[in-house]
Formats: sequence, structure tokens, C-alpha cells
Amino acid sequence: MTDRSSAERADELVDAWDEMREYVDHEPRTYEGLVVECARELAADPRGPLAYSWTLGLVLALPYLATRKPEDGDVGAAFDAAQAVDRALRDAPCTHQGHPFQGDLEGELGNMADVLRELADDGRPWTDLRPRDAWLCPRNVAGHARVVMESLRPGSAGDVPPFLPFEDRYELEGLTAIMEGHPLARTFDVAWDLSFAASALQETADDELAGRVFVATAVAWYVEAEADDAAAQELVDELADAFERAIGLLDDGPCPHGAHPDLPGDTTEALWVGMHLASARGRAAYEKWPEPWAPPLDTALCPAFVAATARDSLTRLRNG
Ligand SMILES: [Zn+2]
Ligand SMILES: [Zn+2]
Repeated sequence: MTDRSSAERADELVDAWDEMREYVDHEPRTYEGLVVECARELAADPRGPLAYSWTLGLVLALPYLATRKPEDGDVGAAFDAAQAVDRALRDAPCTHQGHPFQGDLEGELGNMADVLRELADDGRPWTDLRPRDAWLCPRNVAGHARVVMESLRPGSAGDVPPFLPFEDRYELEGLTAIMEGHPLARTFDVAWDLSFAASALQETADDELAGRVFVATAVAWYVEAEADDAAAQELVDELADAFERAIGLLDDGPCPHGAHPDLPGDTTEALWVGMHLASARGRAAYEKWPEPWAPPLDTALCPAFVAATARDSLTRLRNG
């Protein structure tokens, strides 16, 4: 392809990439094709003038790629292409103090397609707070390539800022939509999806326990408020069993905190806290980009606080 037609093709694809970001696993065959095309273009010319565009295409593919298996061809192709870009561009000369890839990926992913449209068209007003040339800087492109690598193979590019693993983001978005009363199309059975919170808590231990207690707590609040059929009773029993087991695992002795801040009272916010605390990468993101309504990490992880939360949830479920 000539540069011109390649540029037109990349522009054309922005809408498709943004749909892939939003719908995650609606059309896996289409998304696989989009990923393979990005990877092929990058592998052919990792230093090329459109490397920024194809690389951001892969960033927008990360929610979808997290639903694939590591051995799937498109995952491997995306990783190899991102690695080629990183190697080609990471040491390019640059005078910027910082680069957009260092921002909060969770908050930025939804705006990335707009940035791409503005980058591709000088005629559009520039609306991002960071300068356009920092987005186009080869080191930024290499940074976004490392974000792709780190998401696909955690530990492969540990210098990028932490972000919630996309598998957890998938679960968070699905449960949030249920709790907001508008389940996503991928939710076939609400009770079934909610029951994963109980089974995940039932299977977890150690560092992930606090997060899973809070996720299950948010689900228990939701069930208490919204559900009143036979399927809900089964879910209540599963949740109660999981909380009982969790309480048994927690060292509930005295702790150094004078008091513990509450979980946010809003169900979806409590869920957000829990999903972030359920993985090391999520906890790192939680600490780096604190939300004003979320309790500080050290007290949120305190076993005495986690045990008290689990006991409160258990009592409410049993008395419901
Ligand atoms: Zn730079
Ligand atoms: Zn404490």
C-alpha cells in the first residue's frame, strides 16, 4: 500500500477500533481481523509515519484481546508487533517532560479514538490537554506499544504505569451494568453473572481476599435491594458460604488503625474498589490514581476491616 492509501485506511478504521473497545467480544471474527491488520502494518514498518495509529489501534483492542487465549494467533501477532515498535522507537531523541502513555489508561481509553481522529486531521481542533507532538513522539508510540505488551504478557514491560487488568475490567463493566439496571448484551442470565462473585470469593486467598470480599459485598448489597426470587435465594446461600469461609481465613486481631473508613455506600463504587484490590496490578493502579471516594489502600486491605465487612455482609444476608 502507498502511504496515502495506508493513511486513509488507518483513518477509516478508527470507528471500528472504537467499537471493538466498547463491545469487547460482540464480533470476535471482525476484531481478530482488525488486530491482525494492525500487527501486520506495524511489523512491516515499525518506524513508519503511521506507527502511532496502528499502535493505538492495538491499545483499543486490549479489552478484546483479554478475552482471547494467550496462544491465539492474534494475541501473539499483536505482542510481536508491539515489541518491534518498542525496540525501534524507545530510544528516539526527545525533549518532552512526559508522554500521554504515562497517564491513567483506565480513564483515557474512552477518549483515545477522538485523539486519533484529531491526530489524523490537521483541520480538526486539538482538544487533548497534552500537546499533539507528545502523542506523535516516537517515545510515546513506544510507550503505548509497551502498554500493549504489558497487558498481553504481564511483566514484559513493567515500566509502564499500572492499570487494571483487562480481564477484571471485563468483569467490572459487566457487573456495573447489571447494578445500574442495564445489563450488557453479553449478560445472558443476571443471576449467573452475579454468582461469579460468590465463586471467585470461594476460591480466593491471601492478597486477593480483600478485593474479593468487597466485590461480593457489593453484589450482596445489590441482591438485598433488587432480587426477590428463587434464583436470588440460591445466590444468597452461595454468597453467605463464601463470606463464612473468608472470615475463617482472616486474622482478625488488633490492628494499628484507630478507625477504618467505610467502603463507599454506592454499590457500583464499592464494586470498583473491590475489583481493583483483587489483583496486584489493580492495587498498584488504585494507589497511583486514588479516587476521592475510595478508602486509602492500607486501611482497605487491613484484615480487621475486611473481616468486619465480611461479617456485616453475612449478617445482612442471613437476616434478609
Ligand atoms: Zn517525547
Ligand atoms: Zn486496621
